[in-house]
Parts: sequence; C-alpha cells; structure tokens
Amino acid sequence: MAHADPDLLTLLALGEPVPDESVEDHLRTCATCRSELAALREVAGIGRETRVERDLPMPSEDVWSRIAAETGQDTSSVVPLRPRRWRAFLAVAAAAAVIGAAGAIAVDRVTTAPVAAEQVLARVDLARLAAAPGSARGSARVVRTDGRTVLRVSVDGMPAPDGLYQVWLFDGAATMIPLGVLTNGQADMPVPDTVDLNTYRVVDVSAQRWGQQEHGTSMLQGQLS
Ligand SMILES: [Zn+2]
Repeated sequence: MAHADPDLLTLLALGEPVPDESVEDHLRTCATCRSELAALREVAGIGRETRVERDLPMPSEDVWSRIAAETGQDTSSVVPLRPRRWRAFLAVAAAAAVIGAAGAIAVDRVTTAPVAAEQVLARVDLARLAAAPGSARGSARVVRTDGRTVLRVSVDGMPAPDGLYQVWLFDGAATMIPLGVLTNGQADMPVPDTVDLNTYRVVDVSAQRWGQQEHGTSMLQGQLS
C-alpha cells in the first residue's frame, strides 16, 4: 500500500477538505504518515493564509534553517523525510511564514529559487479492470516540466504485487510501449519525444511477474484526454 499523497496531507494539515477518504483510513493504520501529518500540522498551526503549490527544487540546508528561524518552527523532524515530502512541508511552512514580515523573507527566499513550472497536458482517472481488487484506483497525467514530457502515474488500493507493476502506453490496437515501473504506487516516467500521445492514448498499469518480458495482466487502464 502506498503512503498518503503529500498534497493530501498538506490539505489535512491546513484544515482543508480532502477529496479522498482513503487517506483517513490509511492514517489510521500508518504511523509514518501520522507523524508526518503531525509535523505538518505543527507548522501550519501558526498560519494558514496562503499556500505555495508550485514544484520547487529541494531547498538547501540554508533555506531550511531560514524557514526554521523565520517561523520559529523546528524543521529537523521534517527534513529527513522522504524526498517527495518536502513539498508538502514547504506549502505549510510558506503558509505559516507569510504571517509576519520577517516570515515573508523566508517565503521570498524559497519562491525566488528557480521554478520548474509544470503544465498538465492531459489527465485521466484509471478504471479498474477485472483482475484488480475493488479498492484499486489510479490516475495518470501528462506533465510538461523542465522541457520534457513526463507521464505521472499514481495508484492506490492495489495488493502487493507478486513481481511489480508496470506502466505502458497503448495505441488501443496492437502496440504497447513499456514506460516504467511503479515504486510505492507512484512513478514519473519521461515520455520520449518520438512517441505520439495522440496515437498512444491509453495508459495501462499491468501486474508483471519477475522477469516477465511481455505485457502481463492489466489492472488499471484509462484513455488520456
Ligand atoms: Zn503511510
């Protein structure tokens, strides 16, 4: 089971409604995510005026110390978290920091770092196929970022695979292109410029046995739009 989406944890920490109820279920059973949420809430506690939702490069130690200094919050519990988590922390830290003029300096420091603006070109909610359990769900987005096109896939509620889950682009007829494998239900997979997404519109997530070369068993599928 994948951990809770950091963006959803951010929403929870900021006291905003969360569209996905399974997050709350997950929190009940996962101490890791609970402690991350607690750390985020602690930071969010001193302000919730604004949120930073852009993808930013990982802040340096300097920036972390400044955030800590400017907001009076201890960031040491957050910094060692998994790399994806820093973004959620940054959002609540920024929310907290804009409260005071001094805090605004920290926000400025962070948001003026080179920004990798993202453009979502297409998206789809993946439909569960017969082989997948009732809890299975997923989504895919085609994102343009840093001058390249990336297929971002996220799945949840899937059983631990007896092998791995692989993501494919499918032309709906005969040809499937393997793009990459999911790690903890997630992956960002570069799409080669030579692949025409108007032709390969179908995103397929398959269960693969170890070493299986050909396409395995489709679990989730959807057509980009
Ligand atoms: Zn978790």
